[in-house]
Amino acid sequence: MQPYELTLTELHELFKKRELSSVEATRSVLDRIASLNPQLNSYISVTSDMALKSAQEADEVMKRGNFDPLCGIPVAVKDVICIEGIECTCGSKILHNYVPPYDATVISRLKDRHAVFVGKTNMDEFAMGSSTENSASGPARNPWNTECVTGGSSGGSAAALASDQCMGALGTDTGGSIRQPACFCGIAGLKPTYGRVSRYGMVAFACSLEQIGPMAKRVEDLALLMNGIAGYDSMDSTSVNMPVPDYTLDLKKDLKGLKAGIPKEFFTEGTDPEVDAAVKQAIKTIESMGVELQEVSLSYNDYAITAYYIIAPAEASSNLARFDGVKYGYRAEGAQDLREMYRVTRTQGFGREVIRRIMLGTYVLSAGYYDAFYRKACQVRTLIVKQFKSVFEDVDFLITPVSPMPAFKIGEKLEDPLTMYLVDVFTLSTNLAGIPGISVPCGLTQSGLPIGVQFLGRHYGEDTLLRVAHQFEQATEHHKAKLTL
Ligand code: GLN
Repeated sequence: MQPYELTLTELHELFKKRELSSVEATRSVLDRIASLNPQLNSYISVTSDMALKSAQEADEVMKRGNFDPLCGIPVAVKDVICIEGIECTCGSKILHNYVPPYDATVISRLKDRHAVFVGKTNMDEFAMGSSTENSASGPARNPWNTECVTGGSSGGSAAALASDQCMGALGTDTGGSIRQPACFCGIAGLKPTYGRVSRYGMVAFACSLEQIGPMAKRVEDLALLMNGIAGYDSMDSTSVNMPVPDYTLDLKKDLKGLKAGIPKEFFTEGTDPEVDAAVKQAIKTIESMGVELQEVSLSYNDYAITAYYIIAPAEASSNLARFDGVKYGYRAEGAQDLREMYRVTRTQGFGREVIRRIMLGTYVLSAGYYDAFYRKACQVRTLIVKQFKSVFEDVDFLITPVSPMPAFKIGEKLEDPLTMYLVDVFTLSTNLAGIPGISVPCGLTQSGLPIGVQFLGRHYGEDTLLRVAHQFEQATEHHKAKLTL
């Protein structure tokens, strides 16, 4: 077995036994990246020098007997999160050559634990997309079938984990961007409760919806990464000042006595039959572990896509106003005056999907349309929040599919934004409500593509979700499915 094949927890165990050093593990991961990235395009940039330097430092720390679970672990970071001195493109031409002068809070926290950053992962431009095809660096490819998408927008992080090009990763989830690529690539991903993880130093797309979260090969690794990144940060005004539990504590507790809700609106005809069958099998497994099932209704989920695709573009149109060719990144040459410079820079710097969202968002916020679109969408959002709250009075968590289909072919949905938006039907309402959600593997299709199951929880209920997901993972073999590369 090669070091790159290990999970985060397995690697940490070997560090503790002094059977492997962080430099050796990091070298192994960097070699793996060198051999696979040209084909899979999981990374936008690889930070070998920085990684080997931090690995050396981590080895020094461990020599002194300090074995933090994240010490010396090779971690990948979605290219929307700032690392001081490392280019941060957000998958966009407009931020080409932008080098942030500071670390995001999640990065400084992981640096304090001596994690090793191996590179910045590919993503849909500014996290807008569900396939990691909208990237100025070209599409990421799914390691299970390189003709297929990785899912998105954190597709590079998911694919890097699935193909052993890192042991842990950070993604961001505005409407499903951690859970859906985790599902398409057969790994685990957690979208934390809104406010649980600092967004300081993450380039904003839709501030009221998004969270940074961990992605990993195993659920126990997610818990360790969450321990590293969660908690109050005075630099993020939406960060919640509440104590953070040790997320590893409940993992081993069995599920007896818990109550799971099955929202009937998430099991309709539009879902691929193989996905539907695998998720229903997962529900049976959970039931056999002593969980009581109850059918519930989340009728407002039908309006989630509409509300999301008004609110998210509205926020994006405002957030992306700062990219004007003056303060950051790319500036078009040859403009006659300032206005033209703005126009040409933004026309050339942004990709088609980003331009579409800025136009949509500007429209729904404009005088005369604000009440009909933006205000209405916010009202729908409130109804969604209330409905989740009332359902969680009866059940401890919900079980749903992550995506109505497995990974689709590269190019298949690119020309039809509406069908691309429909891919998110099971993940968007989580973000509108601000609740946590987790995706774990629950099977493979006949053609060998991963299928995922989603567990949704109460606000700040990450510990329950990690427990359910870990117990489910340990009771099944799905996470052990191996791909050959
Ligand atoms: N696919 C959704 C979108 O395109 C969600 C993206 C995300 O979570 N960042 O907006």
